[in-house]
Amino acid sequence: MKIYPIISPSADSNTYLLEDEEDEKICIIDPGYTQEHLERIISVLENETGKFGKFPDFIINTHCHYDHIANDEYFADRGIKIFLNEIDGKAILEQNDEKILACFFEMKVPKISNIEFADNDELINLGKTKLKILHTPGHTSGSISVYEEKTKSLFSGDLVFSEGVGRMDLPGGNFEDLKHSIDKILDLNFKTFYPGHGKTGTYGNVKRIRKFI
Ligand SMILES: [Zn+2]
Repeated sequence: MKIYPIISPSADSNTYLLEDEEDEKICIIDPGYTQEHLERIISVLENETGKFGKFPDFIINTHCHYDHIANDEYFADRGIKIFLNEIDGKAILEQNDEKILACFFEMKVPKISNIEFADNDELINLGKTKLKILHTPGHTSGSISVYEEKTKSLFSGDLVFSEGVGRMDLPGGNFEDLKHSIDKILDLNFKTFYPGHGKTGTYGNVKRIRKFI
């Protein structure tokens, strides 16, 4: 699996394009919210991946916050499936602004169709690549992380960053859940983690952060 990180310099979430090169399948993790960020994603899809000019096969959202999900609308309107944990997926389907935080970003609540719920421990196939979904609440109650065993990569959303943990004071946030979720990811054999904001980190970073919380 090849990873194309699209790191946000501003308030968008980071986006990660994952490509199973053999089967030419592409998944997007968290497409952000601004038009500018969406254009960067489309440019990578069109010019850098092996699947020139095509759409991704599906999207995974790590959680329901506006800065991670609003650009789903563009892809869902074109028939692309969006995977989320059921709790956060329902918040989007119910257009629950308190949980989505659209108002916080001074934006309208997005209307996103084509949502499919992904369970804890579910394996989603990206060609021959298996993406393992882990329910890792704490930042929101329906947050998930995505693990890929061969490259030992973990996509952690806003659970943990290279220099600390995600906010727990927003609706659905919970400190005890967050600590358990970090213990859960530390049981995995990942080398690199790819967070929802900021730069990538290592297993050692997470281990160190866990000691201080
Ligand atoms: Zn968030």
